[in-house]
Amino acid sequence: RQEQFRALRDVEPVTRDGKRISLQMNAGLMVDLPQLAESGAEGIGLFRTELQFMIASNMPKLEEQEAFYRAVLKQAVGRQVTFRTLDIGGDKVVPYFRAHEEENPALGWRAIRLSLDRPGLLRTQLRALLRASAGSELKMMVPMVTEVSEIHAVRDLLLKEVQHLSKHGHALPKKLQFGAMLEVPSLMWQIDELMAAVDFVSVGSNDLFQYTMAVDRGNTRVSDRFDNLGKPFLRVLRDIVRAGERNNTPVTLCGEMAGRPLSAMALIGLGFRSVSMSPTAIGPVKAMLLGLDAGKLADALNAALDDRSLSGETTREILLRFAAE
Ligand code: PEP
Ligand code: MG
Repeated sequence: RQEQFRALRDVEPVTRDGKRISLQMNAGLMVDLPQLAESGAEGIGLFRTELQFMIASNMPKLEEQEAFYRAVLKQAVGRQVTFRTLDIGGDKVVPYFRAHEEENPALGWRAIRLSLDRPGLLRTQLRALLRASAGSELKMMVPMVTEVSEIHAVRDLLLKEVQHLSKHGHALPKKLQFGAMLEVPSLMWQIDELMAAVDFVSVGSNDLFQYTMAVDRGNTRVSDRFDNLGKPFLRVLRDIVRAGERNNTPVTLCGEMAGRPLSAMALIGLGFRSVSMSPTAIGPVKAMLLGLDAGKLADALNAALDDRSLSGETTREILLRFAAE
């Protein structure tokens, strides 16, 4: 099967009914980069910048961050890289940074919350990203956004950095794309404001599922208890796709769901046209979508999601049956 998947590397990811799906990969370290060419991924849909911080024994300095991002972009040779700003705290531990114990780390001082409270840290990272992307494109996104105001706060800092660099005669990126991760359910009730505030939205389904269902993603006693292909979560995802369409804002998804053929199929049925996954999943997901009638699946899935009766097949069963047929 490995061989079979490898043979698909240069095949265009287009469904049987002609829908093109952008298949991207997740990465975080230099060792991941060769997979870009090997997997046939179109780009890096999620670059987890905290990994550089997690493996270091001291906080990486501006120059180290810049050199790292520059090396990543060089190795990506023209394929787009979406850098996510620091996502530390919660399940992502940076030993030299934790100031105090928290009772609920997943609900605590993490990701963008921490970055906004330590603007020096965030500004250094933004400066490193801007400098590394001089003359090319910078595509970046912010994790764990809870309120749209946080996006505006990060954008203000980004603009300050742009001004600072241009005042000091540095070259700037030719193009800047600024996005938010949708991982916290509160954004569902400010979704049009969110879509208007950014160039793109990337759904972090690992965290969005954790916070929607109130199940710790790292606790196996509860993490498999509820179904991410069940009605509630699929309806959440469908609402996100619809909000993206309504606002003309590109929407993508970069959680583990994107890398499992059955859930990737469900995502395409919901209308996702871009997904990012671990590089080894690209072959199996591509094999799945080449045989898929996305329109037919969308009809079946939408009918199931609109159905309010509680009896009958679950949405997972409907998806499994569709896949088998
Ligand atoms: C997610 O939460 O789905 C995600 C992609 O981010 P991470 O797994 O790094 O939290
Ligand atoms: Mg996350």
